[in-house]
Amino acid sequence: MKASIPANEQDRLAALRRFELLDTPPEDAFDHITRLAAKLLNVPIALVSLIDEDRQWFKSHLGLPVRETAREFAFCAHAIHGNDVFMVADATLDPRFSDNPLVTKDPGIRFYAGAPLRTSDGLNLGTICVIDRIPRPMLTPDEQEALRNLSAMVMMLIEARQAVGYLHPVTGLSNRFRFLKDIDNALTEDGPAPRTAVVVFDMAASDQYATLARSLGHAMADLFEVAAARRIADRLPGRPKLYHLSAARFGCLLPAPDDDALASWLDAATAGLGAPILCQGVPIVTSNGTGAALFPSDGANALELLRAATTAAHQAMEGKAPWCRYDAARDHASQRAFHLLRDLVPAVAATDQFRIVYQPKIDLRSRACVGSEALLRWVHPELGPISPAEFIPLAERTAFVRPITDWVLNATLAQVARWEKSGLRLRTSINLSMLDLEADDFSSRIAALLDRYGVPPDLIDFEVTESALMQDRGKVNRQFQRIRQLGIEFEIDDFGTGQSALSYLKHIPASVVKIDKMFVQALATDRNDQIMVRSTIDLAHELGFRVVAEGIETVEVYDWLRTHGCDIGQGYLMSRPLEAPAFEAWLRAGGFASPQRPNQPALCGADAQSA
Ligand code: C2E
Ligand code: CA
Ligand code: CA
Repeated sequence: MKASIPANEQDRLAALRRFELLDTPPEDAFDHITRLAAKLLNVPIALVSLIDEDRQWFKSHLGLPVRETAREFAFCAHAIHGNDVFMVADATLDPRFSDNPLVTKDPGIRFYAGAPLRTSDGLNLGTICVIDRIPRPMLTPDEQEALRNLSAMVMMLIEARQAVGYLHPVTGLSNRFRFLKDIDNALTEDGPAPRTAVVVFDMAASDQYATLARSLGHAMADLFEVAAARRIADRLPGRPKLYHLSAARFGCLLPAPDDDALASWLDAATAGLGAPILCQGVPIVTSNGTGAALFPSDGANALELLRAATTAAHQAMEGKAPWCRYDAARDHASQRAFHLLRDLVPAVAATDQFRIVYQPKIDLRSRACVGSEALLRWVHPELGPISPAEFIPLAERTAFVRPITDWVLNATLAQVARWEKSGLRLRTSINLSMLDLEADDFSSRIAALLDRYGVPPDLIDFEVTESALMQDRGKVNRQFQRIRQLGIEFEIDDFGTGQSALSYLKHIPASVVKIDKMFVQALATDRNDQIMVRSTIDLAHELGFRVVAEGIETVEVYDWLRTHGCDIGQGYLMSRPLEAPAFEAWLRAGGFASPQRPNQPALCGADAQSA
């Protein structure tokens, strides 16, 4: 005979789900209690049984090999109707159980006694029960009392286990600790296939969430979390369990048999995820990004997988993609960037990590050296030489470019001063970042440095590149003017690579335009580059600028540029950037005009005499 369904069944099942016990791995604490029950009451079988919708599932099962049975045969399904110990002395004589397969077949139950596991709000989740294969008298009052005490212990354990903090109070979802445990469990169950995917949903950038909490209050931020959780849950195909990981960040686990299945799952889960979220009628607009990491390729354990999926979600948000698979190469790049940035601080203070090299600038007609460009070199103590093309843009993303510029200015001005004292009057160009020019005191610092090293301002040029990072054009322009008044000239660097190169010419009080090597390198053969460079040279000349080309690697390019009126050139053909002593030696040996050099470009007309 089947047990009837308790009147409070819905609440009972909801409570059971909330405690998150079903299908969890065995835990010692529960097994100790069933062992104690079996010993105290001298029976071969003791169980902690939870009555689920249509099964009973054993959190602990001593003396019985199965982890669950159908609810319709469960003695415990009867026991949860009462509030006290439920007993059957001989099941073969009880019409409710005599034809029950658990009685007629394995394990051949005869005696049963179960005490309900009752929550503090009066819901019976299941029982702790003892079972024998032979009939026995009913438990004595003392024995019943023992079983009731054991039931109370199990309930204390269940409630304490939850209090340890596996739930996020605002959303009611399991938290990150639970997620990590569940990932680990899934991994231990995972065979080679199906692979487990860890998915992370970022529903707001961290600064957006902070702003939301600050401007609209924490109650509103809580509402946002609840609504965001619902937004995600409504979209998850197959309804996997959703976890709350941190502010506005959620996660779930799913089986991902192959990449296509994962991709279509992610497409479905992220469709429309970014629509404004209504909180008390206020539409809240945030960025979002979803990331997925696969076991075993993207991580060997729960922590690694969660980190990988979080990184992927961040990449999706940055790239404005709905979702991203974890990309190890990209991740390594950003970890490297992080390490470099961190190591730049001590590098500036160290004496042996930064150096300046000087690349000659050549008058294309006379082949004479008319100056040099100071280029920074960083030899990282572990990673070796790092290109400034890698670390300068990193430093520009933080406030850290200013101390680097200071280092370069000091080192270069000291060198220029030494050269000047030894009779070598060479104009030297120093690269600046636009961020330098945003500092109010930049021009006065320059004036002080020129003074300190005794360098005449006409020996210094600044090369500046247009920067998307430039915040305050007015401020920058004022700095330009003041530096010009000191007698220093500006070159517009990397010309042609920026967004608004032409308007730039109008804004910067420069005297030189420097064409980027990207247009120069293939100049001898590429029609488009030829058109671009020729018109730049003409335009710059008409506006009164001198023109420098960088990246000259072949005689053909050199000749082309000279023929088309470019004034000055820089490139590996003439010389690589050199340390100061090597640069001096190169000059003493005649520089690029030296007749001993192979592969010299032709000298023409009047130039031939002067060279
Ligand atoms: P940039 O200002 O455009 O400098 C020219 C780059 O091209 C240099 O690279 C130079 O070594 C390289 N180069 C010169 N001739 C040739 C050639 O014929 N072929 C090729 N392929 N390359 C050539 P480097 O020294 O690696 O510097 C890269 C960038 O880093 C520079 O580009 C500049 O933007 C930045 N940088 C370098 N030093 C400093 C510095 O002291 N301060 C700042 N703010 N930026 C710097
Ligand atoms: Ca430059
Ligand atoms: Ca360049």
